[in-house]
Amino acid sequence: MSAKSLNGKTAIVTGGARGIGRAYALRLAQLGADVAVVDQNVRSYEEYDAENKLVGGTPAEEALRKFGRKAESYTCDVTEEDSVKSTFDQIAAEFGSIDIVVCNAGGGSGTPATTLASSVDPSDFTAVVERNLYGTYFTCRAAVPHMRDNGWGRIITVSSQAGRRADRGGGYAHYGAAKAGIIMYTKYLAQELGPAGITVNCVAPGYIATGRLSVMFESMGSESLTDEVALRRFGTPEDCADVLQFLATDQSSYVTGTVIPIDGGTTEF
Ligand code: NDP
Repeated sequence: MSAKSLNGKTAIVTGGARGIGRAYALRLAQLGADVAVVDQNVRSYEEYDAENKLVGGTPAEEALRKFGRKAESYTCDVTEEDSVKSTFDQIAAEFGSIDIVVCNAGGGSGTPATTLASSVDPSDFTAVVERNLYGTYFTCRAAVPHMRDNGWGRIITVSSQAGRRADRGGGYAHYGAAKAGIIMYTKYLAQELGPAGITVNCVAPGYIATGRLSVMFESMGSESLTDEVALRRFGTPEDCADVLQFLATDQSSYVTGTVIPIDGGTTEF
């Protein structure tokens, strides 16, 4: 088996029904993994014209099976701990193991003007911290006991450039704080799980043009957004899947507790 092959492994991707998560799921299946997609709405791509067009109206599990792998979608909200635990136990029973987990479900809310650090609404702050940081924590908590049984595991958490630096103006403070928390949580988890043969790494994307967001980026003036990017373009879900491939396979067996930016060269430190 090559260092890139995931034959015989089972991967879970949260938020994998659309967007970047779907690209992660497809790449894992392409590499030979059986894949379980966990999402709060496994058909939500139908609500976004551009996203629906991009996926050709095809549900994730159907697209994944084209690689000849076992694939299923499970409806589960990652902010509900009991539901995450029972879903992961069900997946382990149906697939035989849990070897790779991508904690991708997440996202922000509001506009920069409504999410400043001193005035963001407490209910918005709580919801975004729950969706991103608690969602990641509950996902890892449910997966780790299964991975310990195998003596091998790959956990990839998802932060954002917003979790590494505050943009001018200071909007999306709730999202930035939650994503920064994910980075530190990743480092602690990596320290704990290294001796068990489980690596834990984090990716921190910049602007990634998913089917849904590409429309929004256009309306914001895409050129001004990419001006400071070394590669002068938005990232794609496939760019993110390339980094995931490195972190999810044995290509990266001595890499743990790291944060890898996926931002075309925008990061300054
Ligand atoms: P999308 O919003 O396009 O997709 C996220 C998916 O996660 C959706 O299917 C969504 O469901 C699901 N989801 C959201 N909350 C929950 C929950 N509580 N439980 C289960 N599923 C949930 O996001 P992207 O693909 O753009 O982003 C994926 C990840 O990457 C996120 O963590 C995001 O913060 C991060 N990221 C994205 C960047 C970008 O530019 N796109 C940049 C930096 C980081 P539903 O459709 O119902 O909302």
